[in-house]
Amino acid sequence: MSGGLFDRWFAAPAPAQAPEATPAVGLQLWLDDQARVLRLAGPLRSLLALPGQAGARVHDYLERHSWLVLEGHPADWQGQPLDLDFHTVMGHALHTRGWLQRHEQGWMLQLFDIGDLLREQRWDRQRPLLGEIGHALRECGAERLAQTVREQLRSLTEHWQAAALRLVLREPGGWRHFASSDDAWPWPDDRRLRDRLDQWPAQTLIEVRDDPDLLALCGGASLFLVPYRQGLEAEAWMLCAGARQVPAVDMAMALVRSLTEPLLVRHRRQQLQHQAHHLDDLQQQLGAGWWEWPAHGDLQLDPALAAALGFDSRVGQAQWLDRLHPADREPAQLALDQARDGQALSLGVRLLDRDPLAAPRWFQWAGQGRGGQLRGFLLDISALKAQEQQAGAARARLENLIARSPAVIYVQRYAEGALHSDFYSASLAPLLGWEADGEFARQPGLAVHPDDRPLWLERTRSLLRDGQVRCRYRLRDHLGGYHWMLDEARLLRDDLGQPLEVVGLWLDVSEATEAAERMRQSEERYRVLVEDSPAMICRYRPDLSVLFGNRPLADYLGCTPEQLQGADLGQWLSADQREGFIQRLRALTPEQPVSSAEICLQLPGREHAWWVWADRGMFDGEGRLLEVQAVGRDNTEVRRSQQQLLQGAKMATLGELATGLLHEINQPLNVMRMAVVNALKRLENGAADPAYLEDKLRRIEAQVERAARLVEHMRVYGRRSTVERERFAAWCAVQGAHALLEEGLRGKGVALQLESPEAMPQVLGHQDQLEQVLINLMVNARDALLEQQVAQPWIRVRQALHGERLWLLVEDNAGGIDARLHERIFEPFFTTKPAGVGTGLGLSVSHGIVSQMGGELTVSNTPGGACFCIELPVHCTS
Ligand code: ADP
Repeated sequence: MSGGLFDRWFAAPAPAQAPEATPAVGLQLWLDDQARVLRLAGPLRSLLALPGQAGARVHDYLERHSWLVLEGHPADWQGQPLDLDFHTVMGHALHTRGWLQRHEQGWMLQLFDIGDLLREQRWDRQRPLLGEIGHALRECGAERLAQTVREQLRSLTEHWQAAALRLVLREPGGWRHFASSDDAWPWPDDRRLRDRLDQWPAQTLIEVRDDPDLLALCGGASLFLVPYRQGLEAEAWMLCAGARQVPAVDMAMALVRSLTEPLLVRHRRQQLQHQAHHLDDLQQQLGAGWWEWPAHGDLQLDPALAAALGFDSRVGQAQWLDRLHPADREPAQLALDQARDGQALSLGVRLLDRDPLAAPRWFQWAGQGRGGQLRGFLLDISALKAQEQQAGAARARLENLIARSPAVIYVQRYAEGALHSDFYSASLAPLLGWEADGEFARQPGLAVHPDDRPLWLERTRSLLRDGQVRCRYRLRDHLGGYHWMLDEARLLRDDLGQPLEVVGLWLDVSEATEAAERMRQSEERYRVLVEDSPAMICRYRPDLSVLFGNRPLADYLGCTPEQLQGADLGQWLSADQREGFIQRLRALTPEQPVSSAEICLQLPGREHAWWVWADRGMFDGEGRLLEVQAVGRDNTEVRRSQQQLLQGAKMATLGELATGLLHEINQPLNVMRMAVVNALKRLENGAADPAYLEDKLRRIEAQVERAARLVEHMRVYGRRSTVERERFAAWCAVQGAHALLEEGLRGKGVALQLESPEAMPQVLGHQDQLEQVLINLMVNARDALLEQQVAQPWIRVRQALHGERLWLLVEDNAGGIDARLHERIFEPFFTTKPAGVGTGLGLSVSHGIVSQMGGELTVSNTPGGACFCIELPVHCTS
């Protein structure tokens, strides 16, 4: 560049006498005395930007700073080297050096291009700066890097006499910024700048002149950008704002390169390290690592992986194969040989753990050969394998389940408005015995029961219309039998809503359907049974409102079964009966849900009716009574005959007592007759004073009352019992029996002892019946006493209270009853008395009466005789 030709021009001023001939190098300008350019010559002239007007001065061809060199007139410029910078068509200056010499009338300016020379000089000046920058950036520690870049940018800012510098480095997904100072860069991360960075050609320095947007952002200051590129892309840009002058392009690019290259190297290295760490981490997390196997040598493993597997980092082939599961050794050996022949290696192998009890781990062993050397990676796929095995097992279980279940899963493809069988689960064969490719499987409609075909056609229609269906129909199996199938199907559509296929399920519900049918039939039979039963059957709620009542019940109650619904059962019961009824219901529990009783009803237009009534409570899960089912039977007739029996027994007792009673009535008559006879005698004697007569009359009156009382009691006793039970004091029955028997017993020499009670508790029942029981017991005692001929016979009656129970005890001293007979004496017709004397009914009837009163009649022996105990529930103690 700066060869010998030019050296002389710098070494010394131009010779005063230049050769006349025009040199064919450089640039020549012929000027007049006013420095107006007359003519141009030389190869460089084509570069010049011409002023475009005639008579232009040489100054008009020059950059402004060169005018200083050409002060005054051409005559003044002679004899000295002139350095002149010309405007060029390329935009940058043409640096020249030359001299002026006289030429005919004017002057000739001979100039040579010294651009290269100047550049050399500048390079020489900048080289230390470049070296410094590179050195500083290469040597500083990572923590000081940002600071060092900033310092270097700052010194470059001074060098370029600029306001601010910013270096941006390309990073994946954006640009990384370094600034010369923390002061707000005119456009910190402006989007417009980012967009332009990607658009600008990265060939050379760009001076931003015609981008008002950017310049405005830059606060109106000048702006130029210097690229640094590798390949086609800009890897970095240096942005310089507010520089007084745009530096020489090559210099600027060299400076940017010296700043960027070490930075990029460091940056890339950092990225690589980061990625390597990242990769190591990933490898470790994945349980993966590389391996290499030279053509002649040992397997070499990623150190981390080798450590994890308990290998040295170099492993011989035998050792490697030895650590594989025996089943994997041969495939591994073969795959290795093939890989050495150039085929890709990809094999799942099990590596045995050094602990023989631990399960082997699955690895994907993959690699590729190149020039006899194999290279690849090992990836731990134990978790995947485990999942695969689990999924496989789950799938097998599911398939097994489907195959064994009473369900067939099917798929029907949709084509042109019709459905075509596409798939059946394996359960088809065991369930229907159809061949998978048989006629029925292809066209299931053919297997539908003739009666159900409309259902089948409707199923397909509604499936296509509504997208789903659920119905049941009968399908024929291969043996000709029919199965009730529950069909649940759904239509799947594509993205456009067009039908694609039907996925459905057939469930064999034959058993359930038949069971339901059997149930319906049995319900029907039950209904008929209930309807036609002569018994009264009803269901009612705990509040006694009727849910259902059959015809016999309705007939008894004088209404229709429909009218019974909702009717109150209590309306036919007296208040006491109703109370007793409800109490009985309250006592029902899930454990003791059944209770029965004889209830008395007041039926419309009829006398009282007696029903034997059995209830069964129905409870919910929490033991609450929901409803009661009841069966009743009319017991009125039985009741009546029982009453007649009782009545008969009573009359019999009365008859039996007749002798005693006659005596009882005779007694007052005797007394009265005596009184009358005596009174008459006195009257005859004339000694009947009024006081005597009054005394006699009063005696007669007392005897009349006594006889009247007795007759009244006999009348009451002989009357039929009332229908319903009444409350009465138990002791009154004792007194009644005493009134009837006292005289007769006294006549037989038997002492009847009554122990007057302190209180008179009430019981529920019929007083005449309890009286009859007491009479029976006392008569039996009397008979035993007379039979035993006891010296001082007595019968004692007393009352005792035990909590809510009242005892009436009838004791005698007739020697008692043989313990073996204690059970039997209550049997009907059991008697030890001679034929015609005893009936054997007295105790059995008495037992029945006491039981009906809710009590108990028992016997035991005392030291002297027998003791009968009537135990009754106290109803009211008042
Ligand atoms: P009947 O008096 O007609 O025999 P009952 O049923 O009243 O029938 O009595 C059954 C039997 O019980 C009597 O025959 C008698 O043997 C026995 N019996 C009842 N009361 C007594 C008593 N107080 N002492 C001894 N035996 C008695």
